[in-house]
Amino acid sequence: MSSRSASPALRLPSIDRLLRHPACQPLAERYGREALLASLRQLLDDLREPVISGQLDALEITPETLAGRAGERLAQRHRSHVRRVFNLTGTVLHTNLGRALLPQEAIDAVQMAARYPLNLEFDLHSGKRGDRDDLIEGLIRELTGAEAVTVVNNNAAAVLLTLNSLGARKEGIISRGELIEIGGAFRIPDIMARAGVKLHEVGTTNRTHAKDYEAAIGPRSGLVMRVHASNYNIQGFTTSVPTAELAELAHKHGLPLLEDLGSGSLLDLTRWGLPAEPTVRQALLDGADIVTFSGDKLLGGPQAGLIVGRKELIAKIKKNPLKRALRVDKLTLAALEAVLGLYRDPDRLAERLPSLRLLTRPQADILAQAERLQPSLARVLGEGWSVSAVPALGMIGSGSQPVARLPSAALCLRPDVSKRIRGRRLLDLEAAFRKLAIPVLGRLDDDALWLDLRQLDDEPAWLAQLDQLQVPG
Ligand SMILES: *Cc1c(COP(=O)(O)O)cnc(C)c1O
Repeated sequence: MSSRSASPALRLPSIDRLLRHPACQPLAERYGREALLASLRQLLDDLREPVISGQLDALEITPETLAGRAGERLAQRHRSHVRRVFNLTGTVLHTNLGRALLPQEAIDAVQMAARYPLNLEFDLHSGKRGDRDDLIEGLIRELTGAEAVTVVNNNAAAVLLTLNSLGARKEGIISRGELIEIGGAFRIPDIMARAGVKLHEVGTTNRTHAKDYEAAIGPRSGLVMRVHASNYNIQGFTTSVPTAELAELAHKHGLPLLEDLGSGSLLDLTRWGLPAEPTVRQALLDGADIVTFSGDKLLGGPQAGLIVGRKELIAKIKKNPLKRALRVDKLTLAALEAVLGLYRDPDRLAERLPSLRLLTRPQADILAQAERLQPSLARVLGEGWSVSAVPALGMIGSGSQPVARLPSAALCLRPDVSKRIRGRRLLDLEAAFRKLAIPVLGRLDDDALWLDLRQLDDEPAWLAQLDQLQVPG
């Protein structure tokens, strides 16, 4: 019986033959025999129907084409879900895109900590058990003037842990203007409730006076809290009590003042022409007993929550069993120490710390880059799109300075089509940029797609994949 008279599906190459075929060998080596086998089976299953119905000719399906398709499917399936992207949104510390980028010093430290055993909780001096906070306490004390320090998973954890340690079953007094939502599910009233602290709100949304706090303080009070309203801004008829005055008032009644700074900068950013942010040192000098802030916002380090302040309060916080649940891992500690080390030399900080370098990139530089890249992009997009290099406004992100804008520059892509289909065209282009090997994320605004180049460091990688862009239209 000739093969032609058998069921057409039988003319597809057999699994055994495919597995032995040289075209499949590299795949077996790369993904493992089992994954390859499953992929080939699936492919043959998918082909059987069209071959039997005569839509496909089995003789045209060679082992090479099958190996090629299996290779594509395997590559797709095995592609990492954690992927690098180009952040051209104009928002530097983008919470959804991983916030701060680490400096080389921190990357080296993380690599060391990942590869080797280390003295995470081991005192090399005494040979006894150590405390992981000790590894960075000296440095943070030096940079902030704090008496003591502890570090947890993020600032949300820092706030939760501090509130629970110092105010459980008591009242936390806070201004109504500071009952904020940071994003996601982090709302100050909810965190207080979860921490077991009874919220005692005082004043009004726009104005809170010292006498409002004074009137609220009583036998059930446990702490006074102040939250840096990082992601919104109240303007006009407003009043709040300065930290120094609030601290004095709290202390008069024997209460600690807890200040959640959010971003919390270690240095005065105005020296780099950035908007003023309260520094951790100043908050402590003003009398805050505990200050909490993030490691991966303006500080420019790994995700972490830093709790700094008075020694006996930090000791209490460290004794809370929740501390164990919220502690940082060795990789974070290694990165954090390396980043903090760079702050010892403020003169070179803007060169060495990526987030600060990006935040302070001069607009003229970015515009020159946009002008340089404009022809390449215009060529790839072809007719139907106008591409211009223009000044643009970006932002710091992560809730820091929500109203401040960073003078930047962008490639502005506008579809030359009727208004009716413009929106669709833009969405298609935005999606096409997201489908690239290293997805490019821009910002849709004013009938255009904006690629803010402040953060385009790796120009060669960006240019290299432009030809793969599936331009809509
Ligand atoms: C960002 C922020 C937080 C949360 O910090 P994470 O590090 O994101 O957990 C808490 N409080 C304020 C004021 C913030 O700005």
